[in-house]
Formats: sequence, C-alpha cells, structure tokens
Amino acid sequence: MIDSNDFNSYFRYKDGVLHCEDVSIETIAKKVGTPFYLYSKKAIIDKINEYKEAFKDYPTIICYAAKANSNLSILKIFQENDIGCDIVSGGELYKAKKAGIPSNKIVYAGVGKTDFEIEFAIRENILSFNVESYQEIEVINSIAEKVGKVARISIRVNPDVDPKTHPYISTGMKKSKFGIDIDEALNIYKKAMQFKNIEIIGVHCHIGSQIMSISPYIEAVSKVAELVDKLKKEGIELKYFDIGGGIGIKYKITDEPPNIKDFANAIIPIVKQTGLNLIIEPGRSLIGEAGALITKVLFLKDKKEKHFVIVDSGMNDLVRPSIYDAYHHIMAVKIKDKTIKADIVGPICESGDFLGIDREICQVERGDLVAVMSAGAYGASMSSNYNVRPRALEVLVDNNNFKIIREREDYNYLIKLEEEVIQ
Ligand SMILES: *Cc1c(COP(=O)(O)O)cnc(C)c1O
Repeated sequence: MIDSNDFNSYFRYKDGVLHCEDVSIETIAKKVGTPFYLYSKKAIIDKINEYKEAFKDYPTIICYAAKANSNLSILKIFQENDIGCDIVSGGELYKAKKAGIPSNKIVYAGVGKTDFEIEFAIRENILSFNVESYQEIEVINSIAEKVGKVARISIRVNPDVDPKTHPYISTGMKKSKFGIDIDEALNIYKKAMQFKNIEIIGVHCHIGSQIMSISPYIEAVSKVAELVDKLKKEGIELKYFDIGGGIGIKYKITDEPPNIKDFANAIIPIVKQTGLNLIIEPGRSLIGEAGALITKVLFLKDKKEKHFVIVDSGMNDLVRPSIYDAYHHIMAVKIKDKTIKADIVGPICESGDFLGIDREICQVERGDLVAVMSAGAYGASMSSNYNVRPRALEVLVDNNNFKIIREREDYNYLIKLEEEVIQ
C-alpha cells in the first residue's frame, strides 16, 4: 500500500495532504521553502516515555546518542525530559552543555579522542569516558593529573557478536576498530587500576546500529556480565553496566523493529545479576521515526528504461541511501488517484545521489512535495555542503505550531571562512 496513514502515526494525511501532527506540510513549505527537515516533538517525547516506562523498575540512565541528531532544540527536548547524552566528540560535548545536559549524565565514547577533547571533558567532569584502548587510559590519566582531577572511565569491550546489520554500522565484531577484545579486558582493567588519576566505574559495549532483533543484545550483555563476574573475583568493583544503543527503527513499511519493553525485559534480568546500574545509549530509535526530509520536485524525466523524479534535495542532505544503501520510505505530500514508479534522485553530480530507487508513489508534478520518511536520525547530522549546497533548514512541530530550529544556510555563510583568508 502506498502513501497511506499506515506508515507513521505522527505523519498522517488529512484532506489528502500530509500533515506532521496537526500542521500541513504544504503550509510549512510555503513559509520556509525547501528542502527542510521536519520533526514531530510529540513523536520524540512519546519515544522518551516509552524508554522511561520500559526501564522504570531498574536504576537506568538513558543517554541519548547525540550523533543521531545534535540540533540544539532537539537536545533541549532531551534535557527537559531528564535524558543524558552519549557523545563522541568535543563538539557534541559543547552542544550538550549548551542544551543544559548535566555532566553527570554524559558519557563519552570514540576510538580517537584528542588531547584537547579529553581535557575539555575532564574539566566538564563528565560521568564517564568510555575508553577504547589502553593507550587512551594512559593519556586520560596524564591529562587528568595535569589538571589536578580524577577522570572516571568505563572500558568499552568488544564482545564479538554479530548484530546482523550493515557492515558499516556493525561495531562489536572481532575485526572492528572499536573497543578492547573481551578476552583481553580483564588484563587491561588490572593494569588500569594502577593509575592515580583514573577511577574505573564501569564497563561499556555497543555492538552496532539498526539492530532488528534482541538476540544479539542478549548474547553481548551475557558475555559482558561474565566479565563483570571475573572482575569482581579480582576485587575490581564496578558501578555501571553500559550496554550502548543500536535498536532499529521502521524504514520500510514491512519493518518490525524490536519493541522497547521486550528489549528491556530481556536485558534487565542479565544486568540485575551483576548488581550494576544500567546505562543505555539509544540514538536512532529515539529520533529517527520522528523526522522526515521534505523536498520539492524540480523535474520529471522519462528515459526508455526508467522514470526519474528529480528533487531539490540529495545526498548532501541525506547520505544514508548513498553510503549504506539505506532504504527510506518515500511518500508524496499530496494524495492523487494515479501513481508512478520512478527513481527519486537529487541534484548532486554523482550516480550515488538517490533517495529511492524504483519507488511507487502518488503522481507528482513539478513543484509538488515529497516526504522522505524516518530521516530524523543520521540525516541532518550527517549532512554536508557538497556541491556548495546550503544545508537544509530544520523545523520542529508541536501540535498545531511549528518553528524553525535551524535557519537555512546562505551563500555568505558558505564562503565566510574562506573569504576571510583569500589572498
Ligand atoms: C552510535 C552510537 C550509539 C547510538 O546508536 P543508535 O544505533 O543510533 O542507537 C550509542 N553508543 C555508541 C558508542 C555509539 O557509537
């Protein structure tokens, strides 16, 4: 079934026009132009509450993975709902603090933290560095010593579990660059105990993203729980068990992502045995389905083999189809009786610049709008200025109101840093 209300309950047709909550997408487009990212505040808050409800009976800190979408107004929604942040850079720390996220709810992962970033995070007194190598522990210790502080760390272990997702977003297998092999972890924990300016508080794992079944989590968390036991026997007492993020979302109408409550019910008993507090780091599943990319049809082009719908947004705005071969459900904003089957492609000078291949949608014409669904995560945050294209504007809908949460970049903005230094 195409272009129906079955895909996403926050984006529904009313009088034949797609709305986000109670606002017509045509109305927004008239006001702000295209392309733009569009988010439903209610969709975000409902997801937050779904997570809170699922984990309410166990001490759990929910740290939203800011890399999924780091718009300040989006981070602010998480802050207002008492959600912390999982960050992967100094820039994300800066934004999280700007949005008012408290430091005791910030955890910091990533294989390549710079000295500058480490010092920044130590000074901000974040809850935990999720460290990914022995050398990183040494460096954090020496920087902490220099600034006269003690840095809390958790060790990211690699449980060697196949999450059965795209290889580029699979992070917990043996040959992956992430984490410390679980077999070596005990040794590293012991060695890390010697450092005076390090406090070891936890264990961390994150096995990948867009994971569509709970079983890889059960496998990974069980393996890490065994490690926690071994550590206890060695006298190394931890406080936090951070299981990362990665829960998948609905990109295709047939997708059935895990239910959050089922996920919690499967994981909590395993973590409970360790006695540690839980940290979870969902990104995509908190924001992905809450957003859509709205783009306008520029041209229709018919070739012998294919029809093309050429729109004003491309891989610079949404790179997932190009780099992960990702599928995003696409809908015409206006319902029509006739349908077409076409490739929905962008204006970028690359053959990989497509939003959807062989898609059936309602007939569109030049000037009509198209919605690329489930684009709230890894959409705007991965966008670029390739082909010197200003990034898409971003809009947040709240009931029957909408507001711009990121202005459209203009040409002046695009050249500013180059113009200042031109010879
Ligand atoms: C990317 C990432 C997440 C979030 O993953 P999602 O699939 O968006 O939930 C969580 N933790 C770490 C360490 C990550 O790198």
